[in-house]
Amino acid sequence: MSSQTNPPREIHQQHHTSRETYALLRGQFRGDLLRPGDPVYEEAHAIWNGMVARRPGVIARCTDVGDVRTAIQVAKETGILTAIRCGGHSLAGFSTCDGGLVIDLSRMREVTLDPDARRARVAGGCLLGSIDTATQKTGLVFPSGVVSHTGASGLILGGGTGWLTRRFGLSCDNVETYTVVTADGCIVRANAKENVDLFWALRGGGSNFGVVTEFELKLHPLKSVVLAEGLTPESNIRQLLQFWRDFMPEAPFDLKWNLDLRLAPHKQKVSLPLRGCPVAGSSLVWTGAPEDAQKYFDRLFSLCHPDSVRSQLVSFLNLQTMADTDFPHGRRYYTKSGYFRDLGDRTIDHLLEAVAAIPSPETQIELTYLGGAAGQVAADETAFGDRSAPFIINLLANWADAADDGLHIDWIRSLFQKLRPAMTPGVYVNFMSGDEQDRVPEAYQQRWERMVAVKSHYDPSNFFRLNQNVPPRTRA
Ligand SMILES: Cc1cc2nc3c(=O)[nH]c(=O)nc-3n(C[C@H](O)[C@H](O)[C@H](O)COP(=O)(O)OP(=O)(O)OC[C@H]3O[C@@H](n4cnc5c(N)ncnc54)[C@H](O)[C@@H]3O)c2cc1C
Repeated sequence: MSSQTNPPREIHQQHHTSRETYALLRGQFRGDLLRPGDPVYEEAHAIWNGMVARRPGVIARCTDVGDVRTAIQVAKETGILTAIRCGGHSLAGFSTCDGGLVIDLSRMREVTLDPDARRARVAGGCLLGSIDTATQKTGLVFPSGVVSHTGASGLILGGGTGWLTRRFGLSCDNVETYTVVTADGCIVRANAKENVDLFWALRGGGSNFGVVTEFELKLHPLKSVVLAEGLTPESNIRQLLQFWRDFMPEAPFDLKWNLDLRLAPHKQKVSLPLRGCPVAGSSLVWTGAPEDAQKYFDRLFSLCHPDSVRSQLVSFLNLQTMADTDFPHGRRYYTKSGYFRDLGDRTIDHLLEAVAAIPSPETQIELTYLGGAAGQVAADETAFGDRSAPFIINLLANWADAADDGLHIDWIRSLFQKLRPAMTPGVYVNFMSGDEQDRVPEAYQQRWERMVAVKSHYDPSNFFRLNQNVPPRTRA
């Protein structure tokens, strides 16, 4: 995932192609064109995952759909490798490339609200925070992810899970229309009536089909939630996991309960005996009437260290930003993820062993339970697929020093190998790393052939290939 090293002839060819691309774009492109050496390039080229240190030849910061179209047409003409960037949070590092073109949508962050219809049109460069801030002005929400600096496009295109998934469904379940610039430069609308195959594929199929310049979203009324948090000491983690596993299948749609196994931070708000020790952090979000929340928190609190428990009413905007500083830009991240139909005791044994030997205070084993409204959509209704294996695990290593890459990556891979036999096939494409191309068919399973057919129709030359890639059929 680190910087690619290309042979000198290839580098020379890349320079030539990026110069040609730049020259063709100048004059017809209305946004900013950045190249190495430009004052803002150094800041503009970096993406969130510090492991991915690639240097594109040209960054084209688009102002509108016309610019996106121009960039795609020029890129097709010169044959330059092209990445698309919204928030730059691809864990795999797909929103950049060495020597190629980045179509950067960060100047396209308009959100247009229709509060009466509970609808919003959001441009393809929006961050989650751009949408939350705009929609909360009228007390409405769009269900998305849990960190506000994440790009909305990448998240929605992969599916999109967050605090409101059980109440309102995945992000992609709440998109009514996608406006897409396809590889041939056409502007296409996809919804339940127009281009229905593309609409199906865009709901979970990632960025394989074109650049989405606008999403038309369904919104829901919600201003605040009850948030409960607590830290369970190592001695109680087994009991907690068993309770959570048995409780969640019957839990109301209004309740989201996420767990993360990690070392408790050395922070003042963490009580002294827990600091630096293995713990399970629980975060419960209740979206129903506040007075109904407490009964769901009592059992959790009995398994937590008493000094660590708190519950409070928080505004939706506070909820959406509370994890922002836990995942800073520029650190090194590596992830592996999978689904379980059930969380067996053997799996819990592995998790307990793992948290006792976790190599970095920032590394986490995240557990979430899907179900709720998201679980009510049939597997063939969207590309996102099988929602019947509700336990999602995400192993996320987070460290600072490049010299430690091997240690952290090996730790994640080895834990994943231990957990893998009990997993049910399937993976969420947004929680995959850049070295997992062989798992992409697993993400789509029985939907794979339909994905390939839609890809072959809209992108037969695989122009959009920097993603968890669905290759088009090769012509005979
Ligand atoms: C800190 C952090 C928190 C996260 N939290 C959650 C979470 O709560 N829930 C969840 O579901 N996921 C979460 N994720 C995963 C997240 O969904 C993916 O990393 C997602 O790809 C990020 O989108 P982005 O636009 O920022 O990424 P980018 O790196 O900009 O793009 C990601 C991919 O999408 C493509 N792309 C971007 N914009 C467009 C567009 N407009 N049209 C077509 N293709 C496009 C890119 O080519 C690339 O392949 C999180 C990731 C991070 C780093």
